Amino acid sequence: MPILNRAAELQAEASEWRRHLHENPELLYDVHDTAAFVAEKLKSFGVDEIVTGIGRTGVVGVIHGRHGQGRTIGLRSDMDALPIVEETGREWASKVDGKMHACGHDGHMAMLLGAAKHLAETRNFSGSVALIFQPAEEGGAGALAMVEDGLMERFKIDEVYGMHNMPGIPLGAFAIRKGGIMAAPDKFSILVKGRGGHAAQPHRTIDPISIGAQIVTNLQMIASRNTDPIRSVVVSVTRFQAGSSHNIIPNEALIAGTVRTLDESVRDAAEARIKQMAEGIAQANGAEAEAVYERYCPVTVNHADETDHAIRIARDVVGDKNVDPDVDPSMAGEDFSYMLKERPGAFIFIGNGDSAGLHNPSYDFNDDAIAYGVSYWVKLAEQRLGG
Ligand SMILES: [Zn+2]
Ligand SMILES: [Zn+2]
Repeated sequence: MPILNRAAELQAEASEWRRHLHENPELLYDVHDTAAFVAEKLKSFGVDEIVTGIGRTGVVGVIHGRHGQGRTIGLRSDMDALPIVEETGREWASKVDGKMHACGHDGHMAMLLGAAKHLAETRNFSGSVALIFQPAEEGGAGALAMVEDGLMERFKIDEVYGMHNMPGIPLGAFAIRKGGIMAAPDKFSILVKGRGGHAAQPHRTIDPISIGAQIVTNLQMIASRNTDPIRSVVVSVTRFQAGSSHNIIPNEALIAGTVRTLDESVRDAAEARIKQMAEGIAQANGAEAEAVYERYCPVTVNHADETDHAIRIARDVVGDKNVDPDVDPSMAGEDFSYMLKERPGAFIFIGNGDSAGLHNPSYDFNDDAIAYGVSYWVKLAEQRLGG
């Protein structure tokens, strides 16, 4: 029995919630109306406990099973949208100028709300399900804010699972892998401090542009010569700013970019090499360089046993051939990684079909995925908690 009948029935209603949320996008922690909508729905389903304001604007709903005490499983959705002008032309397009649900967090909420409604009706498990709705996934570390607000201890969460839609993966398919599935997305900046002067007298200057250019070239060595070719690292320089005129050598040049890694040791090495290269090359040329490396969220690392559970449940929902158990990781970041550092769990991709890509103004969540997502959540909760 693949998709749950009740999940298929709920798809139409959940699509309406999804479209309402899509029309009313909010950013980062400023998800007050979204959180209120989620809390109101949870209340209407008869969810036992509803806590708002955790991790600033996060919401947690708890459903107790009807088979007595037991463990608690956490199921997580994100809630925030992006600062993008929507170009889908859909009937339910954003009503808020410059804001858009372009990462499908509207769909994630609809799927988790659908599962909440189903689980609150049936309660066919022991222990409890904690439905986690987090703010600020898009660069605001909302998952960390909830963890720091005591999410795991307060709700006694034993295991935690996340799900993200993925354009390019067929509708009705899932994909996952053990170990690193999403990268640690870090950023760096290097300020090269030279000595400016007349462009016709370069020997009287310390040219931060030619020194900066050497640094940019050398940074390519991190991927090509400093990292085991079997491991992944991305070093992208995305800004190089200096100068104001054709006849002036400036005092300073600014270089900035991003580093993506799937392994903490590669991450540590990349950070160290960037500093060494920047400072060493600057010094060799009589300049100084200030390198700043800022770590954002960690690698999203799927735990082995919990990934096996997720694969089994996904196969139960969509059949063996529609589950890729060893998908290539994404070099994008995901702050669910903070929750996976606290508790064992797994993060899975659900197919969004042949849609525009995430963060694209033409992207839209595929409502036909809802029944698959709801079925996955419900079966995962029931099977991990047992009757
Ligand atoms: Zn996103
Ligand atoms: Zn997202």
